[in-house]
Amino acid sequence: MALVSVVVPFYNEEGNVPEMIRRTSEVLDRVVLERGDDYEIVTVNDGSRDGTLNALRAAQRAQPRLVVVDLSRNFGHQIAATAGMETARGDAVILMDGDLQDPPELIERMLATWREGYDVVYATRRARRGESGFKLFTARLFYRVIRRMTNVDIPVDTGDFRLMSRRVVDALGQTRERHRFLRGLVSWVGFKQTGIEYDRDARFTGSTKYPLSKMVRFAFDGITAFSEIPLRFATYLGFVVSAFAFVYTAIVIALKFLGQNEPGYTSMMVAILFLGGVQLIFIGILGEYVGRIYDQIKGRPLYLVSSVERSSPASISK
Ligand code: UDP
Ligand code: MG
Repeated sequence: MALVSVVVPFYNEEGNVPEMIRRTSEVLDRVVLERGDDYEIVTVNDGSRDGTLNALRAAQRAQPRLVVVDLSRNFGHQIAATAGMETARGDAVILMDGDLQDPPELIERMLATWREGYDVVYATRRARRGESGFKLFTARLFYRVIRRMTNVDIPVDTGDFRLMSRRVVDALGQTRERHRFLRGLVSWVGFKQTGIEYDRDARFTGSTKYPLSKMVRFAFDGITAFSEIPLRFATYLGFVVSAFAFVYTAIVIALKFLGQNEPGYTSMMVAILFLGGVQLIFIGILGEYVGRIYDQIKGRPLYLVSSVERSSPASISK
């Protein structure tokens, strides 16, 4: 008998909890229980300020296979997902969002592919409904840029909605990176991976918990965790600018000996402003890496759990 875990992080999603649990349970009852296997739905309350925790507890009374992990505060989506995956005990673990943008019905195909022997079945977005043109464009761009910047084969247009086998989840558990970019880590782990395509729905209720500022930070986390190219840029650009400066210096000296002194205010301002800007940018990039090193070196736990609530085994009957 196999155990399937579905992990769902929730942050201020009280309006989505009942429908999310209802639809997911319906699918799991049909595709897991009827085969004689079992499942658990591991929900993580990521420090919500609304009634999400109460909604989860209420759902648990009607659905004993629901596990409620309550974190001590808001740790962010990637860490909340990690906490859920580390609580999950399944032979296969499926990670999905709590706003029904990832249709639970896809679980059936994921499980079928896993049973064929794949370790990771990721869901690639063919279409995305209910999201702004700006988000679609920046997301598309981001996945293509990060792919070019790293040796890890990170699939494009693919979020965290995916199935992972036990050995992949255990491998992820060994990575203690604080600035987690889960979709990259999963690719880094390796094993047998494949994708299936789906159309991403609009949110059921509520609005996105990823405003632009968080998206930018998330993009930086992904890039810094999987690429050193931004650091090397400074070196490359330094060489180019130095070569240019060398030639230009020779010209200026030659002109001086020919008695043709240029007034030079414009060229000087351009050089100062350009180099000043470039230097600040690269100090900033260095700072992004150094800050993450500092954060990592402090070695604080990734998250703190306030409580884990499971129904008694006796209440889970088939
Ligand atoms: N989420 C979370 N902690 C956070 C932010 C988001 O657990 O700090 C959850 C959120 O409740 C949802 C999932 O992560 O289940 C994805 O977030 P969201 O739908 O806001 O992101 P989007 O789909 O807009 O990119
Ligand atoms: Mg969403």
